[in-house]
Order: sequence, then structure tokens, then C-alpha cells
Amino acid sequence: MAYDPNNIFAKILRGEIPCSMVYEDDHTLAFHDINPQTAVHVLVIPKGPYQSWDDFSTNANDVEIAALIRAVGKIARELGVAEEGYRVLSNIGEFGGQEVPHLHIHLFGGQKLGRMIKPA
Ligand code: 5GP
Repeated sequence: MAYDPNNIFAKILRGEIPCSMVYEDDHTLAFHDINPQTAVHVLVIPKGPYQSWDDFSTNANDVEIAALIRAVGKIARELGVAEEGYRVLSNIGEFGGQEVPHLHIHLFGGQKLGRMIKPA
């Protein structure tokens, strides 16, 4: 399936709809989730047109991959959640529960997060 350039995060990247930005570099953008699940809930996305972790890990170049991974850590430290701990998660595809078809890393923190997840 081809990347859908009309997905909501592509529109955010093009500046067509607003976001509450927390971080940006040449390859990566991060912003607060519009419907936060935890005290801190940030989405970290690559600027390139990658649908999912599967697509990104196959097709992104090493600079893009390093930028995304380093950005997640940097954002966590800047938001003050690194010391007490946080969680990163990416939903991939149908079984993963992915709603927006542009790779995004959820960064959850600012509170105790409990155990992992329950299957549907
Ligand atoms: P997924 O289920 O695809 O892993 O997560 C999609 C996430 O995107 C959800 O947590 C949802 O709240 C968030 N989201 C959906 N639309 C928007 C939007 O327009 N702006 C922002 N900031 N977050 C959004």
C-alpha cells in the first residue's frame, strides 16, 4: 500500500493543520498528542513519508533512523521524564492498532504507567 499524503500527520508536517510542537530537527518532528492518555503524551514522527515502523526500518536511511531514536531520548530529557522513567510505543498496522498511517512513536510519561498492555 502506498503512503497516503493526506494523512493527518502529513498535513501537520506541511503546516496545513496546527500542532503543539515540542521538538524539531531536520528529520524529526514531535508534538503533544491531541488526546493525551497520560500526563505527558508526545508523538515523535519522522519527516519522511514512512507509513509505519515496518516501512521506516526497511526504507529510511541511517541518518533518519538515528535522528528519530536520538530525538525520543532528547525529548524525554527535555520534558523532564527521563529520570523517573517513561514508555515508548509504536502501533504498527491493523493488529497493532495503528490509526494514523504515518510512523509515530508515542512517548508516555509524567506518572506511573502500570504494567504493559492487554490484548483486545
Ligand atoms: P495510533 O493509534 O495511530 O498509534 O495513534 C494515533 C494518535 O494520534 C492518537 O493517540 C491520537 O490521539 C493522535 N492524533 C490523531 N489526530 C491528531 C491530531 O490532529 N493532532 C495530534 N496532535 N494528535 C492526533
